[in-house]
Amino acid sequence: MLSLQRLVAELDAWMSPASFQDYAPNGVQIEGREQIQRLALGVTASATVIEQALAWHADALLVHHGYFWKNEPPTLTGMKGRRIKRFCQADVSLLAYHLPLDCHPEFGNNVALMGHLGWDRYEAVDSQGLIWVATLPVPLTPTALAEHIEARLLRAPTVITAESIGPISRIALCTGGAQDYLSRAAAIGVDAYLSGEISERTTHEARELGVTYFAAGHHATERYGVQALGQRIRDHLGIEVAFFDEDNPA
Ligand SMILES: [Zn+2]
Repeated sequence: MLSLQRLVAELDAWMSPASFQDYAPNGVQIEGREQIQRLALGVTASATVIEQALAWHADALLVHHGYFWKNEPPTLTGMKGRRIKRFCQADVSLLAYHLPLDCHPEFGNNVALMGHLGWDRYEAVDSQGLIWVATLPVPLTPTALAEHIEARLLRAPTVITAESIGPISRIALCTGGAQDYLSRAAAIGVDAYLSGEISERTTHEARELGVTYFAAGHHATERYGVQALGQRIRDHLGIEVAFFDEDNPA
C-alpha cells in the first residue's frame, strides 16, 4: 500500500513536471481513493482502458494521454463526461504525465522506444530530451529499417524515402505527433527521422529536405515509456502494476 500523495511525490521527483511547458496538467487529474495497491497503466485513458483497469480492481490509472488539453471545452459532457464519471463512480484516480514522460532520459517514451528497437547509442539533441539522435548498430537501407521497425512494433511504418546516398546510419527520433520537427532533424544532419504521425506536408518536407521519414504510429511509438515507468514504480515503490492497451493503428 502506498498513499496517492506519496506516489505523486515520487513521480514528480523523478520527472520534474514543473520544468515543462505542457499542453495538459501533469500529475493527478482526477482524485480518487487515498491508498494505492494496484496501479493500472495505459497510453491513453480511453473508455476501453478505463474498463480494463476497473476490471483489474485498479486503485488508480496512470497514462501518457490524459484529459484537460489546452483549448478543449471545459465542460464534462458527452464522451469526456462519461469517461470522467467512471473514475468518480469507482473512486479511482487518474494520473497523467505527458511531456515529462516523453523526455525522461531513463524511462521516457523516446529512450524506451530506442531500447525496444535495440538501439543503445543515442543522445538527446535538446536540453529537455524532446528529440534524440541514435546511431544504428549497423547501417540499414530504408526498406530494411522499415522491416525492423515493423517486426518490433507489430505495425508497418509509412516511409517517405528521400533521395539520399547510401544506407541510414544516424536517425533522429521523437515519439508521438512530432512530424513537424522534421526540419529540426534535417538541420541536425541525420539520414532519417522517426516519429509517430504523418501530415500531407510531411511528405514534401522529407523529399525536399533530403531526410527519409518513418511514421511509425503515434500510439505504437508511445507504448514503451509508461511500461518502463511502471517497472520502476514496481521496483522502487512495491505496488502492483499492470499495462492495459487498446489497439490503435494511428
Ligand atoms: Zn502522444
